[in-house]
Amino acid sequence: MTDGGDHGDHHEEHGSELSEMQLRVRALETVLAEKGYLDPAALDLMIEAYETRIGPHNGARVVARAWIDAAFRSALIEDATKAVQSFGLINRVGDHLIAVENTPTLHNMIVCTLCSCYPWEVLGLPPVWYKSAPYRSRAVNDPRGVLADFGLTLAPDTQIRVWDSTAETRFIVLPMRPAGTDGWSEEKLAALVTRDCMIGTGLPKQPNEVA
Ligand code: FE
Repeated sequence: MTDGGDHGDHHEEHGSELSEMQLRVRALETVLAEKGYLDPAALDLMIEAYETRIGPHNGARVVARAWIDAAFRSALIEDATKAVQSFGLINRVGDHLIAVENTPTLHNMIVCTLCSCYPWEVLGLPPVWYKSAPYRSRAVNDPRGVLADFGLTLAPDTQIRVWDSTAETRFIVLPMRPAGTDGWSEEKLAALVTRDCMIGTGLPKQPNEVA
């Protein structure tokens, strides 16, 4: 909005509470609907899905299930797209999901060096830093440095493998199950699974970090 900066917020001067961007989006939506390119009801469903149903809690359930169910874990590594379908998640047409598993000697990390490709169906909307130029370039050139910025220091002999997402291929990291969680339910385990540990810029929470 091109209001005079000295005079504070003038969003109300046109009798509208909407920002310029919101007005533009609304205008575009109206034109597309009038021309028949867009079904407003379908759009509402998509927006509702992204606001309420889609988020990293889905990926957390997938990871927790893999931790307790060896057959599911194998299916996930084999074909993650197919394995997560059993969760009834919204699968974006054309996306191929690949699960990469951390081990005591291998740490996986995901990036999209070109733009911001991200496994929406399991992680929701990407964090701002994921789309930033520094993350996108440094994740490849200096993954250990990036992990240090996130407060994550791995053993020196742990290999770091960086996976570059594309429009067709998305990745989710399957982190190692924290020690001291024997006998935990899937729901309780899912509470340990953070968004960042599924991107590879973090680790799951420890048992003493959750109630
Ligand atoms: Fe991208």
